[in-house]
Amino acid sequence: MQVQFFNAGAALFGVPDYVPALMEYVESYGIDLRFGHTLKSVDGPRGRATFEHVLRDGSKDRVESDFDMIHVVPPQTAPDFVRSSPLADAAGWIDVDRGTLCHIKYEDIYALGDAINAPNAKTAAAARKQAPVVAHNVLASLGRVARLALYDGYGSCPLTVEHGKVVLAEFVYGGKFAPSFPAWLIDSTRPSRLAWFLKERVLPPLYWNGMLKGREWMARPVQVD
Ligand SMILES: Cc1cc2nc3c(=O)[nH]c(=O)nc-3n(C[C@H](O)[C@H](O)[C@H](O)COP(=O)(O)OP(=O)(O)OC[C@H]3O[C@@H](n4cnc5c(N)ncnc54)[C@H](O)[C@@H]3O)c2cc1C
Repeated sequence: MQVQFFNAGAALFGVPDYVPALMEYVESYGIDLRFGHTLKSVDGPRGRATFEHVLRDGSKDRVESDFDMIHVVPPQTAPDFVRSSPLADAAGWIDVDRGTLCHIKYEDIYALGDAINAPNAKTAAAARKQAPVVAHNVLASLGRVARLALYDGYGSCPLTVEHGKVVLAEFVYGGKFAPSFPAWLIDSTRPSRLAWFLKERVLPPLYWNGMLKGREWMARPVQVD
């Protein structure tokens, strides 16, 4: 089976430290990578997809590809009621300060999660770290605590590369490598069985019993003067 991977962007993953491990899998699976390709239409009955390809000189051409199965990820957008609200920026995301998560225009409004315009990866791992920052800063607004807390852009993607192995990507603003575990335990730049175990067995109870119930001691926010 020939696997083709078309991507509208220019790189396989935004954090360079994780790219070598991912490229080894791309090569071993024989995946044909094509960057700068944006899906324009799908002809299901004929099994044909059409992409717009941006060339190095900025010009565009059309590329057609046959498929037996196609997996499409649409562009990310905020829900309509957010996009049309006065809280949104020109691109439709809630306009917040990337550190305090306070709205840029309305100082009594805070926001977190996928709908905000902070330049972090939209992951539940990010929302996990943003929630205590917002909770803390709301208390600061109410005069109940003195110092503000800052979100550092933390995000995480457990990248499943084969059955039983995960590359545990963790990073902060600027695509900076930010592993939670020491390299002797999990070398997160390499595929690992322990990272698979973490994703399969540890994270679900952590999400359900810790994070969603507001009992997550490992996500304490950093405070600033
Ligand atoms: C396939 C997939 C895999 C993922 N894997 C991971 C992963 O491994 N690790 C990770 O950290 N993150 C992962 N994510 C990302 C993660 O799911 C999101 O970042 C996270 O859910 C964002 O949380 P949120 O509360 O901001 O938004 P959401 O979880 O999208 O919650 C928004 C809620 O608002 C509701 N809503 C929408 N419109 C209205 C309305 N008008 N009125 C009332 N309610 C409304 C929606 O129904 C939804 O329940 C994955 C996402 C996808 C799609």
